[in-house]
Amino acid sequence: MRSFSKSISSELSARVEKNKQKTKASVLGNSLTSSPAQIWGSRISWRITLVVFMTILLVQTLILNFATMGQFENQRLYELREAGRSAIAAAIDTENTNLSASPFSDAKVQRLFETTKIKGLVVYSWDMNFIRNYGESVQLMNSSLDDMSKTYRSTDGRIYEVILKNSDLKRAYIIMTRLDSSHVQNEVADYIKQTIIIMLLMSAFVTTVLMMALGRWLLEPILFMRANLMAASEHPENPKIMESPFNPTDEIGGAIAIAQKLIQQNADNISHIRSAAEDKIHKLAYYDTLTGLPNRTLFLQTLAENTNKVGDGKVERFAVVTLDLDHFKDVNDSMGHNVGDAILRGVGKRLRTSMPESATVSRMSEDEFAITMPLSTDINSARDVGERVINVIRSEPFRVFNEQFQVRASVGVSTFPDDGIDPDQILKNADIALNRAKEEGRDTIKEYSEDFDRAVQQRFQMLRDLRDALESDQLTLHYQPQLDLKSGKVIGAEALLRWFKPDNSKEGGSYIPPFEFIPVAEQSGLIVPIGEWVMRTACEAAVEWEKTHGFKGVRIAVNVSGVQFTQSDICAFVKKTIKETGIKASRLELEVTESIFMEDIDQTIETLKELHALGIELAIDDFGTGYSSLSYLRQFPIDRLKIDQSFIRNALNNPDDAAIAKTIVRLGHSLNLKVIAEGVETKDHETFLLEEECDEAQGYRYARPCPNEEFIEFVAGYNGKLASFDK
Ligand code: C2E
Ligand code: CA
Ligand code: CA
Repeated sequence: MRSFSKSISSELSARVEKNKQKTKASVLGNSLTSSPAQIWGSRISWRITLVVFMTILLVQTLILNFATMGQFENQRLYELREAGRSAIAAAIDTENTNLSASPFSDAKVQRLFETTKIKGLVVYSWDMNFIRNYGESVQLMNSSLDDMSKTYRSTDGRIYEVILKNSDLKRAYIIMTRLDSSHVQNEVADYIKQTIIIMLLMSAFVTTVLMMALGRWLLEPILFMRANLMAASEHPENPKIMESPFNPTDEIGGAIAIAQKLIQQNADNISHIRSAAEDKIHKLAYYDTLTGLPNRTLFLQTLAENTNKVGDGKVERFAVVTLDLDHFKDVNDSMGHNVGDAILRGVGKRLRTSMPESATVSRMSEDEFAITMPLSTDINSARDVGERVINVIRSEPFRVFNEQFQVRASVGVSTFPDDGIDPDQILKNADIALNRAKEEGRDTIKEYSEDFDRAVQQRFQMLRDLRDALESDQLTLHYQPQLDLKSGKVIGAEALLRWFKPDNSKEGGSYIPPFEFIPVAEQSGLIVPIGEWVMRTACEAAVEWEKTHGFKGVRIAVNVSGVQFTQSDICAFVKKTIKETGIKASRLELEVTESIFMEDIDQTIETLKELHALGIELAIDDFGTGYSSLSYLRQFPIDRLKIDQSFIRNALNNPDDAAIAKTIVRLGHSLNLKVIAEGVETKDHETFLLEEECDEAQGYRYARPCPNEEFIEFVAGYNGKLASFDK
């Protein structure tokens, strides 16, 4: 894992570095200054420039209108008036002393009109008595003359009339003058024209300069930023950011620097999120969530890698160890998943810490772990690894919620390349060895051997033979009587399956013991049709016992495998069998083992209740060997506890087993259940059971399981006295 994320991040940083170089190159290659086309095509520049242009124009127009134009015209009119005034002053006859007569000679006036802009004159005495007028009539004459500064301008601007006071003329006359001001009009028009041209030139200049300035300081950075943002939006995880040539301390340069920082942060975030997601996916795909150890997939990958490893031209030997916790399912079901999970975590941790770094410790399934590690001079055999594994599990109990759980494990080991060169094969062989270890009573190590393969092959052969056996009537039932210890009467019989397999021997065949073929039948599901055959045959026999031989109250006990509970509708079948064989429901008993409670306990209770409702009896077989859910026992609708024969066998020489047997009797009675003991071989066994007030017994002391006819003979010939079995 560590190496995986490392490789991702190093690849990522290499990519980023590469891109940095690429973008640097492109920055240097393409000049950054925006092209004229970009500047003149920029809408924002145009808008700003247009506003500036209009503003300048407006201001200039206002200035022209309100200030300069009026001033210019007034200046020209003033000059016209002054020219008129000095000409008139010069033309006044200074020798004239008659102040009520005109001071001008006609000739002089004529000269004035010809040489100056003066078009008409009206002469008044200093006290405003009209003396005489010359030339064109003067408009001012028609208005009142209380204001001497009054002037007149014709609407077309061609005529300008002013009053020259005696103070202006330094003579004792007041003269109204009509002046030709048409040139002033033209000059004003020229002035306006010129000003407008200058204004336009100025505006054009300002616009150009402004556009360039905007292009340089505004547009260029904006375009740069836009290019960066566009690149970032196209490849957010891996944006091609150019190095900013803009000063980060100014406003736009600062904005660019921030934008770039954000882009980079975003990219970092995305790649962070992605690599975290990739890590997570990798974790989920290759690691077990409960223990954090590699899962089966990663384990197989590691195996495949290891098988391909060749050091110095030599293959590296390595061990594959698989282990399965003994009776883990029982713990899990009786103590709850929390406890089970805690134990699994503990086992995982213990295994991991006890193994060297070079080992891969993985959780393969529920309670199955596997380890592979290279063999070295230190640990040079797979068996050593297996031993270390089994010892580290055994070494001390696991502590969960202040309770101690002694966990044991079965271990299978195989070695590469000795036991296989294919990763699947080598693991399969370790599993075969593991199964062997489990079969041989668990809590042990088995090394893979080619013989195991043969054993597997034999199992397949047995399965084929067993199918044939079912079809060709090789299966029979033997019956073993069950006796009431108080009355001595035969109260029932257990039906036990026998397989007589024909061969070429003298005997014509041999009996295959149930412990060999029942597990094969269970594993393959063949136990379902076999079990149905057993039940039907047993019921038919029991019906015959009562009808034909008059055996009253002899019950038939049929063994039912857990597989029949999970893989078939056992209730429907029992109902059908009762109906078809005509057996009284109370004459049929099913023997189930505690293992059936390890599946779905609620479902099992449901099924048992349904069966019990049919009126049949239920017994728990081999009681005391499983992890009894004593707390559930009260809820089970059962009638009988069957003490496992191992306790009876050892009751007389092992106080623990005797104590267990006694406890089971008491427990059964306290729950109002009958208790039957099996494996009763001797009188001493019987005495012990009688002392403990056990209700019923079954065993070789009374009879071995035997064919139907023998069983009938036995019951018919039995005098009902236990003492008759004494030797
Ligand atoms: P089980 O149900 O515990 O059956 C009792 C076993 O103890 C029988 O072995 C029986 O022959 C043996 N036995 C009875 N009395 C004594 C005794 O005094 N001493 C000793 N040493 N053994 C005694 P068997 O017939 O070999 O059956 C073995 C197991 O096979 C049974 O154990 C049962 O679990 C299974 N089995 C047998 N028949 C059937 C069947 O029809 N269906 C299923 N599902 N399982 C069956
Ligand atoms: Ca049984
Ligand atoms: Ca039994």
